[in-house]
Amino acid sequence: MTAWQSDETAGRLELLGVPVDRVTMAEAVGRCEGLILRRRPATVVTVNPELIMHAARNPGVARAVREADLVVPDGIGVVWASRVFGRPVPERVPGVELAGALLGLAAARGFRVFLLGAEPGVAEEAARRAKRRHPRLVVAGVHHGYFGPEQEPAVLDLIRRARPDIVLVGMGAPRQELWIARHRHRWSVPLAVGVGGTLDVLSGRVARAPRWMQRAGLEWLYRLLRQPARIRRAAALPRFALKVLLDARRRNLL
Ligand code: UDP
Repeated sequence: MTAWQSDETAGRLELLGVPVDRVTMAEAVGRCEGLILRRRPATVVTVNPELIMHAARNPGVARAVREADLVVPDGIGVVWASRVFGRPVPERVPGVELAGALLGLAAARGFRVFLLGAEPGVAEEAARRAKRRHPRLVVAGVHHGYFGPEQEPAVLDLIRRARPDIVLVGMGAPRQELWIARHRHRWSVPLAVGVGGTLDVLSGRVARAPRWMQRAGLEWLYRLLRQPARIRRAAALPRFALKVLLDARRRNLL
């Protein structure tokens, strides 16, 4: 599979076999609203280089991303790669900001939200803070993300009974993408979004990088400095960059 191929879908590019929608944050939120109103189980993936590298190794992950209804460019590495191939995405659409915007949309439109993921207590706190910010927001339910296969039916049942319009799944990539792909046709949730560590941020447990670092495309570095254990995962970044550059070279784009 090549790093980039044109896609028949307008506004979509493909990186190492993974589709990425060339949307702005505002367009992404608009697309999400449309998917919710369509009322069929839809999924959104927030893609970064790490997930693309997972997809290159694991066909299940690749399928989960390909079958998503919307794939937004979450990582700066994805923005960079889109430029290397001359089909730039308009901007970075960080999962944490998309999640925040969807909470605002939910409050404005009366969509019910379920928060799934993170350590026990985190989703509750995230819900409390979100409701403080958006008093009209309906949080239909919450559940932590540390459950085994034996508890899975109970969690699914809880989600079904809560009748959410949106489920934000923050269980880390690619666990959340695989989980959503496995269950999306068994629940009747109009929109499921994999949001990584967003619930930790929404709950106030984890701070986002300062704005200047976000603007400089260094949010990944900030996260690495705060959580040095991420170093092994960060090793995917240079490997991703190398793959992209080699492919661009092969295509005489460099
Ligand atoms: N997590 C979870 N269940 C697990 C493992 C992780 O709910 O079995 C949560 C974890 O508590 C954290 C999130 O998933 O809230 C992963 O955050 P991270 O920043 O690593 O995700 P990324 O945004 O890098 O995918």
